[in-house]
Amino acid sequence: MLRKELNIFTFKDLLEHFPFRHIDKTKIDKIGGLTTASEYAYVCGKLISFDIVGQNRARRLVAKIKDETGILELVWFQGINWVQKILQPGQQYLVFGKLGFFMGVPQIAHPEIENNTTQNISAKNTLEPIYPSTEKLKARGINGSTFGKFTKELLQRIHEKDLPENLPANIIEKFRLLSRYKAFELVHFPASEAQYQQALRRLKFEELFFAQLRMQLTKLQRHRFSRGLLFDKVGNLFNTFYESYLPFALTNAQKTVLKEIRKDTGSGRQMNRLLQGDVGSGKTMVALLSMLIAADNGFQSVLMAPTEILAQQHFSSITEYLDGLPVCVKMLTGSTAAKQRKIILKECAEGEINILIGTHAVIEDHVIFKNLGFAVVDEQHKFGVAQRAQLWKKNLLPPHVLVMTATPIPRTLALTAYGDLDYSIMDELPPGRKPVTTLHRNESARPQVMDFIKEQLALGRQAYIIYPLIEESSKLDYENLMKGYEEVKSFFPEPKYWISMVHGKQPSEQKEINMQRFVKGNTNIMVSTTVIEVGVNVPNASVMVIESSEKFGLSQLHQLRGRVGRGSDKSYCILLTGKKLSNDARERIKIMVATNDGFAIAEKDLEIRGPGEIEGTRQSGALNFKLANIVNDKAMLEVAKETVAQLLEEDPEINLPKNANVKSYLHEQKAKTKWSKIS
Ligand code: ADP
Ligand code: MG
Repeated sequence: MLRKELNIFTFKDLLEHFPFRHIDKTKIDKIGGLTTASEYAYVCGKLISFDIVGQNRARRLVAKIKDETGILELVWFQGINWVQKILQPGQQYLVFGKLGFFMGVPQIAHPEIENNTTQNISAKNTLEPIYPSTEKLKARGINGSTFGKFTKELLQRIHEKDLPENLPANIIEKFRLLSRYKAFELVHFPASEAQYQQALRRLKFEELFFAQLRMQLTKLQRHRFSRGLLFDKVGNLFNTFYESYLPFALTNAQKTVLKEIRKDTGSGRQMNRLLQGDVGSGKTMVALLSMLIAADNGFQSVLMAPTEILAQQHFSSITEYLDGLPVCVKMLTGSTAAKQRKIILKECAEGEINILIGTHAVIEDHVIFKNLGFAVVDEQHKFGVAQRAQLWKKNLLPPHVLVMTATPIPRTLALTAYGDLDYSIMDELPPGRKPVTTLHRNESARPQVMDFIKEQLALGRQAYIIYPLIEESSKLDYENLMKGYEEVKSFFPEPKYWISMVHGKQPSEQKEINMQRFVKGNTNIMVSTTVIEVGVNVPNASVMVIESSEKFGLSQLHQLRGRVGRGSDKSYCILLTGKKLSNDARERIKIMVATNDGFAIAEKDLEIRGPGEIEGTRQSGALNFKLANIVNDKAMLEVAKETVAQLLEEDPEINLPKNANVKSYLHEQKAKTKWSKIS
């Protein structure tokens, strides 16, 4: 039963079934001192009387308990017959329960009650733990406090040696941590809140410490042992492109990252790098330049995008950039025609293709490369761990991997979820970008908003109108989109205006045609769902209106907004919402209006939503802490990271006698879980 319901298999699991709160029974309350502010009451007194009152559903047993300061009422609605038999007027009782007031009289419904036969009334000496349980367990009589009994018994039977220390003595001393055994005891049965906090602090630290240790060890081992393909030169393709084709100067951030990649790929070990850059910071160009270095060294590259639209977009911009250079670029997606696919597969296997761009179709098993050397995963959160693993198998030595995020992820998350990847940041936008002005408007202001779009179109610009389509399959969302489209058409009649519409239900050819009409400037307005969210680049678009924007998450809003402000014109993002907004939604809109900084937005997003909800990290497992919480325990995470770094610096193999605890605990854990090599 415990197994099935709560995954409790071993005594360790039971100890790690932590209480979510404690109830203070360490002191006995005086009835006269109880106020509406007291949540629980623990009282000792004499039963003076009891009565059964009321009829039918209101039938209840009311008892009165008296101490020297006042009278407390106890009420039972159920089990009346049984209670009636055990209650004895004149007897002393210890009574505990949630306190309420009825007509000014303190009252406890369904109290815990126990005879107090001994003369010396004594309170418990520890706080009483309350545990999470499930409905099924409750039905079997195992409730939140039953666990306390199991755990107490267990703790009495085990000893220090059953829960050996796993942190080195110097670290325990430095941070004044409780011993492991003591911490487990006190997290369940503390004598005070302060003790509980001490126990919690120790156990959280341990959790974060070992998570960091595994992460940093993986990274270290990769750096030392994983042989990689050697790109030992920068050749003609790169140099010619850089000198004669590159249409702008690189930003300093782009140059820095490129140097980091150059260093990795020239080191003889495999690169696994996460590139964090804000929307519009120019990650694609970094990827392209890296792929040219690969080609200079005789290696093929792939660039994987999460959607067909984005793959297409990368394909057209990259072929355009490279026009005139002897680089063979091809595109492969799920909708590539069979005949074409066959040709591409052949060219790929023979090494004729230098750069293959596509969706995850490019890493399917039947796609064989002659010599894959470099892989770019764009907008990483849509790719799972398994897909990245597939990539590694595409060559005898695994290709170098550059993972690019769509929007920044918060630093604390990056530390915990991707700590084993190397890490680059581009926190600089290309020069000349004007920050997008973001406004919040009520839906009732839609006509004025449409008029504003007209003004912008009159200046020759283009506009996006975005509808939420959270679930591609949701009928309601789809109907809203269609209704919206009709409405937009009535505001912007043909032939004065032309409208494109793109959504997930269209065949990809149709999507592509509509998209291209907008990209080429043949249509003025793009009505779309979030399928255009990632990466789409139309510099002439200067307004974006987001309908029902309260339905979107922060990073999604930021990503959408990144579609405007790509040219040199002043750009606007207008967030339409209904009148009634939840607090969270109001907060999100406020942040969007206040800042364009994706890194700041990412931190806020984490604060509002909590770690479990951030896209792309849900499945990572690295965030499944039992006690620690990376938002609230941010400072401790940093300390754990530093501590681990120092330990590994001094003792990279964890062989020093003083770290023996750590080593044996790691081995014990490793035997239990298999820790995957990629994040
Ligand atoms: P993201 O980082 O969001 O993927 P992109 O790579 O799509 O951004 O780049 C956004 C736009 O900025 C593109 O039009 C690209 O050509 C342009 N761009 C990239 N680097 C620079 C630069 N150094 N100077 C000017 N424009 C640049
Ligand atoms: Mg991009």
